[in-house]
Amino acid sequence: MIVVLKANTNKEKKTQLIDWLKGMGLGTHISEGEYQTVIGLIGDTSKVDMDLLESLDIVDSVKRVSETFKCCNRKFHPDDTIVEVGNVKIGGGNFCMIAGPCSVESEEQIVEIAKSVKASGANLLRGGAFKPRTSPYDFQGLRAEGIDLLKIARQETGLPIITEIMNIRDLPLFDDVDVLQIGARNMQNFDLLKEVGKTGKPILLKRGLANTLKELLMSAEYIMSTGNEQVILCERGIRTFGDYTRNTLDLSAVPMLHELSHLPVIVDPSHATGIARLVSPMALAATACGADGLIVEVHNDPMHALCDGAQSLKPNEYDELVKKVNVVREALK
Ligand code: PEP
Ligand code: MN
Repeated sequence: MIVVLKANTNKEKKTQLIDWLKGMGLGTHISEGEYQTVIGLIGDTSKVDMDLLESLDIVDSVKRVSETFKCCNRKFHPDDTIVEVGNVKIGGGNFCMIAGPCSVESEEQIVEIAKSVKASGANLLRGGAFKPRTSPYDFQGLRAEGIDLLKIARQETGLPIITEIMNIRDLPLFDDVDVLQIGARNMQNFDLLKEVGKTGKPILLKRGLANTLKELLMSAEYIMSTGNEQVILCERGIRTFGDYTRNTLDLSAVPMLHELSHLPVIVDPSHATGIARLVSPMALAATACGADGLIVEVHNDPMHALCDGAQSLKPNEYDELVKKVNVVREALK
């Protein structure tokens, strides 16, 4: 249920109302917009007397929210959420370019790529340290050492770092990581979602390979129910009968998620297609349909990459992509 307050409501009356609602055992989510305050009620609202609420002089309207996702629901928070990572803003008109290799492989590799993507205009560095590989015999990532190397690359370039966490057990290793990534395979690892939520850090939540948008939003809800509002949603392609690409990029997810939720939505054209030459066209399409950013795999030597070389752009290709993305963004203004 949401309670929309009248403009310029007296602060004391607002606090009284919130305390009264809390007294009924309900959780409250307050969204202070430029023109109105929206109080979202979480919990069993069946006993709330809607007529009584509506009759209060500070209340403008009361509506039931039928969706099971509440905190991430646009109705609870009409304005776009802007996620902040250091000086980088994501969402609400702020476009974010995340780039870097699939996996951190060595200090030279990550530092060289970090410097080149920064020069091209990226504002966050990605790199996997713990890798979710289909085969246990494939490269599993440098793990703790990979995180240390990302920190070196951050020190060299000033780019904040984002990397995937697969297991709660490893959480202490991520203390100094700027953004935690929940990968597609862990989108419904609910215990992990709750624990990363509690860190208060920004979380990049990728859509599962075979998950619906509602399920993605319910997973965001798991993170947000811990009080952490800093969630970025990521469309990275889903499993379909498409036979020439690694996945099928569901671009309609971008405007649909924007309609349903106030959270920023970014697109990963690398894992969506699995083919380097398809990355730029899909990145441009994602930009055109309103994505709040892109996460793109870039490698200085894709032929010898330990993971996902086939979908990695070379630094010069990434540079060209950023220029084209800027043209599309300009055209959208
Ligand atoms: C990744 O970003 O490195 C990754 C493994 O992506 P996904 O979880 O989307 O497959
Ligand atoms: Mn990858």
